[in-house]
Amino acid sequence: MTDSVLRPGRLFIGGTWREAESGQRFSVTDPADGSTLTDVADADPGDALDALDAAVAAQAGWAATPARERGEILRRAFELIMSQADDYARLISLEMGKTLAEAKGEVTYGAEFFRWFSEEAVRIHGRWMQNPAGGTRLLTVKKPVGPCLFITPWNFPLAMGTRKIGPAVAAGCTMVVKPAEATPLTMLRLAETLAEAGLPDGVLNVVTTSSSPAVCSALMADDRLRKLSFTGSTSVGKILVKQSADELQRISMELGGNAPFLVFEDADVDAAVDGAMIAKMRNMGEACTAANRFLVHESVADAFAERLGARMGKLATGRGQEEGVDVGPLIDANAVESVHQLVTDAVHDGATLVVGGTVPDGPGTFYSPTVLLGVPADAQINREEIFGPVAPITTFATEDEAIERANATEYGLASYAYTNDLGRTIRLAERLEYGMVGINTGLISNAAAPFGGVKASGFGREGGFEGIEEYLDTTYVSIPGA
Ligand code: NAD
Repeated sequence: MTDSVLRPGRLFIGGTWREAESGQRFSVTDPADGSTLTDVADADPGDALDALDAAVAAQAGWAATPARERGEILRRAFELIMSQADDYARLISLEMGKTLAEAKGEVTYGAEFFRWFSEEAVRIHGRWMQNPAGGTRLLTVKKPVGPCLFITPWNFPLAMGTRKIGPAVAAGCTMVVKPAEATPLTMLRLAETLAEAGLPDGVLNVVTTSSSPAVCSALMADDRLRKLSFTGSTSVGKILVKQSADELQRISMELGGNAPFLVFEDADVDAAVDGAMIAKMRNMGEACTAANRFLVHESVADAFAERLGARMGKLATGRGQEEGVDVGPLIDANAVESVHQLVTDAVHDGATLVVGGTVPDGPGTFYSPTVLLGVPADAQINREEIFGPVAPITTFATEDEAIERANATEYGLASYAYTNDLGRTIRLAERLEYGMVGINTGLISNAAAPFGGVKASGFGREGGFEGIEEYLDTTYVSIPGA
């Protein structure tokens, strides 16, 4: 398939586009039919260390660049992305599979991190205070942590990058970005946009590779790298946390989720179904924030299941770039297989299929939108991140039971609840062991808010005032009093 946004990719190192030293390349595949879209340079550890050399060489100059200038580059990049929103959306849709409408949503969301952090760049400051014991004065100075490594997943090829690049650029850090093997094209285009916006050579370097473990290990073993920010699965996150021990890099971990979606007896059921459609079907369910377990009060469970099933059953599955399509393909055949296995096991364990549960005939890696009712609480589908368009519903009788079940998971990223009771809202906010709680909404991602998790969902926050702190070190200076 030819499309003007598709171009063969090269590495972006020190402001120069170049092939991998080995000359190797790897293909990028269209998940809608398995065909090859284009190919990109396949970096090895030597190329990655060249990228780190460039980031290290640019670090001092970038840290000394006035904050206003750093912010204005981000602001220009925001404007450029928005002016090219259709092209960005098309590229995201082609390499990742999501519909054009969803891809445009990602462009707006992803670009917003540049606008937000363009405004935060000029608000970095320390403090001045008297020593409580008298005498000296205490001064704090914020400094960029230094060269960073960003490892990003395939599910939001733009936004998972801008969420890290925005605050790092604002804070005065340089970086090497290693996008997911399945979706490297959007990040290469973003490097072009940032260069056009005036980002100096070497501040951002992009290394595409089919050998992520070897490439990232080489970078992590280098003591010039000062920070890792990773978004991806908990299993890979644990490997990287261990690797960071040798050089004691600072780390931020945005890992997997198992979001509960609670519907209480006092909720507006139609509003809850609207919210469920967003929380479940955004990105075909391939989101760390995706509602994974629907915990519905027994008095409204049948009505909720019936209405959700009716809405899910009407969704049209197909190629993301086609008119009228609501649900694109999953990322690959393994994803379809694991989603189908979870559904099959849940039915075997006693769940009822309200709608879906089928693998449409190929080509492409599609899965039909699915609703399951009466899923046993301990079913595998309630314990694992589904990462597909499947809504398993279980019922509860009391608020305590709902909260206990919601918390009964190793994960703690996003959670959702529908209720019209203010007291209950406060209890949920305080008792849900999650980094994020959405009340009467199915969409919580927002560049102005601190995004992140607890427990096996990781640590660190992206976005909000908190997001830039991940890229700043604090030096305390003791000054003699007058
Ligand atoms: P993944 O962990 O397989 O891969 C993520 C990235 O890590 C990719 O770039 C991959 O190439 C790289 N990688 C894989 N093994 C590596 C290794 N040994 N060393 C270094 N890098 C390695 O995850 P994925 O399948 O791309 O993404 C889906 C996962 O990401 C889900 O678990 C999802 O919940 C999570 N996710 C989390 C957030 C969040 O903000 N918390 C956001 C999006 C996705």
